[in-house]
Amino acid sequence: MHRLEGKTALVTGAARGIGAAIARRFAAEGALVWVTDIDPAGAAVAEAIGGRFALLDVREEAAWDRVMAAVGALDILVNNAGITGFEGSPTPHDPEHASLADWRHVHAVNLDGCFLGCRAAIRAMRPKGSGSIINISSRSGIVGIPAAAAYASSKAAMRNHTKSVALWCAQNGLTIRCNSIHPAAILTPMWEPMLGTSPAEREAAMQAFVADTPLRRFGTPDEVAAMAAYLASDESAYVTGSEFHIDGGILAGSAASPA
Ligand code: NDP
Repeated sequence: MHRLEGKTALVTGAARGIGAAIARRFAAEGALVWVTDIDPAGAAVAEAIGGRFALLDVREEAAWDRVMAAVGALDILVNNAGITGFEGSPTPHDPEHASLADWRHVHAVNLDGCFLGCRAAIRAMRPKGSGSIINISSRSGIVGIPAAAAYASSKAAMRNHTKSVALWCAQNGLTIRCNSIHPAAILTPMWEPMLGTSPAEREAAMQAFVADTPLRRFGTPDEVAAMAAYLASDESAYVTGSEFHIDGGILAGSAASPA
């Protein structure tokens, strides 16, 4: 605890789920945390942890400028805001049937948001010459996901952009590190549209989703927050351009492997 004392952090999409857990953990570690989201409910998260709140739609360049002007110097950025695109979208998201509008919407939040966040953070961290940027990608950024093609594509691009940012900063003599976290099946409100409505449907869906997970359970937002705290702290000073899986062992093997 108190590994982030004296540091200022900004977390996007932090009104709930993984982002809220990261904000709480960073505050417990001593950081001043800017909780940001398009959802004003983020203000309650900020209040509970003694942080600050700002409305921030990560797709909007002008919104980043406005928020960063208020934040000033920054030590830690977590690009966490993300969508599957299933919310309110009746069209399938597979490569054959997905609509261009859905494809663009998912990339605008997940990828444009990550690009704008990284750019804003490098600029805000440059005067001090150091900092940590953490991009919340996904297991879906490593493997193909036929039913969520735009989501998988956007998360794969986040993984790659992480490495470009890490190398750019290193080439410029900055100790601004950039790493990606790749969670899978972390039980948050993001899952709700996929779990059905009745308790029986929900139980069956949850069992089915973790059937191929070696640890046979969903992960928790706090488990992702613990990994983010390590990457945000000086304990990870030699770690940049790397990717961290937190997935109950899914990527360790293959469901198609011979028994
Ligand atoms: P949630 O849906 O629970 O929370 C996401 C938050 O981001 C919501 O408060 C949402 O607001 C907000 N948000 C949505 N669009 C924007 C935007 N344009 N600008 C700013 N904020 C926005 O998601 P999770 O906590 O589950 O996921 C967090 C991150 O982790 C995402 O990037 C996700 O892809 C990634 N991830 C999650 C996994 C999981 O199993 N949960 C697995 C792998 C990766 P609103 O509610 O108003 O839309």
